[in-house]
Amino acid sequence: MKRLVLLGAGHAHMVALRQFARDPLPETELVVVSPSRWQYYSGMIPGWLAGHYRLDQCRVLVEPTVIAAGGRLVLDRAVELRATEQEVVLASGERVPYDLLSVDVGSASDSAVLNEPDSMILGVKPVERFAEDWPATERSLRARARPRIVVLGGGAGGAEIAMALARRSADCDQAGVVLVAGSNGVVPGFRPRFRRLVRRALMRCGVEIVEEYGEPVVDGVRLAGGRRLRADAVLVSTGGRALPFLEASGLAVDEAGFVRVDASHRSTSHHNVFVAGDACSRVDQRLDRSGVHAVRAGPILARNLAAAISGKPLARFYPRRFSLYLLAAGDCTAIGSYGPLTFSGAWVWKWKDRIDRGFVDSFPGA
Ligand SMILES: Cc1cc2nc3c(=O)[nH]c(=O)nc-3n(C[C@H](O)[C@H](O)[C@H](O)COP(=O)(O)OP(=O)(O)OC[C@H]3O[C@@H](n4cnc5c(N)ncnc54)[C@H](O)[C@@H]3O)c2cc1C
Repeated sequence: MKRLVLLGAGHAHMVALRQFARDPLPETELVVVSPSRWQYYSGMIPGWLAGHYRLDQCRVLVEPTVIAAGGRLVLDRAVELRATEQEVVLASGERVPYDLLSVDVGSASDSAVLNEPDSMILGVKPVERFAEDWPATERSLRARARPRIVVLGGGAGGAEIAMALARRSADCDQAGVVLVAGSNGVVPGFRPRFRRLVRRALMRCGVEIVEEYGEPVVDGVRLAGGRRLRADAVLVSTGGRALPFLEASGLAVDEAGFVRVDASHRSTSHHNVFVAGDACSRVDQRLDRSGVHAVRAGPILARNLAAAISGKPLARFYPRRFSLYLLAAGDCTAIGSYGPLTFSGAWVWKWKDRIDRGFVDSFPGA
């Protein structure tokens, strides 16, 4: 009997587990390690901030999916991975040996001053931590007269969060929201029309856009040009960094600490380790860190873990040429991008809402 350990219950692992429930792994002890009882669906978090969803609508209980797959859930966090010794060390001190390991632990917000007590600087990743911390921050913001919130990071997540907060605070005549987007502007990497629509939507809901890089400091944000923006809260939604224990694991990692994998999502240095989602760095092609890719990699990951157990050939994960991105504007409209196409409106939000709810509801613990 071989032991397969799944580290993290991220998007890719949840999809893989659902597949194991349909197609059980032969002769395998399956152990899943997750620090949280829930897996949060990040695509719905801006909707939660805007007041469109309750938090329990944006998350899935992990255990029912693990049990359906024939596995056992260990509620703990990995603090060390010893690839040569084939073991994971948990925060409790427990050592979990493995024959085969799959890692899907996501990434963390990129800032040195996050989550210090009372600092009011919150990273949006890991999402479960943010979801726990935000309600208290919001309460304390509501107690202030016209508080100012700065969102750091002009990618799709940062833009959605800024619009959600602006719409939410408009309801109660509250906060001013500033989006510090970086010198590449808002949603860089997307087509010009999409970028124009997102910019317009931000301005429509009163978000001030600053096209400069910034870093959080105790009382706000220091911009690259030297100016300081005072803030009552700073939400960091910048690129994301690799979890530190991966870099120290002995696995081959890239310059940012993400684990190098081939097209089958197997570690390039250790053939009994697979990595999917934000935590990996493909050596054959650039793959954006997005939930879309993590979810799509899930079925291939499941197939490859089963193949690795039974010594069969591995499959490759080819991301589709175009990915569908639907960005919520906070007012029950959304802006969409699919390859060369850009579209927007209330129907796009309804579509996004259906897809997002459908994903969450497809798991037994929803
Ligand atoms: C606000 C926001 C909105 C977003 N919206 C979209 C969107 O609309 N579309 C899109 O494609 N992408 C979106 N993204 C990006 C998307 O969230 C990530 O790319 C995606 O979550 C990556 O999935 P993953 O499987 O790598 O990890 P995650 O889904 O982040 O899961 C990682 C898991 O690992 C667990 N974990 C963490 N540390 C440890 C540890 N030490 N030991 C064990 N387990 C651990 C966590 O508890 C978590 O369950 C958004 C991101 C944010 C922040």
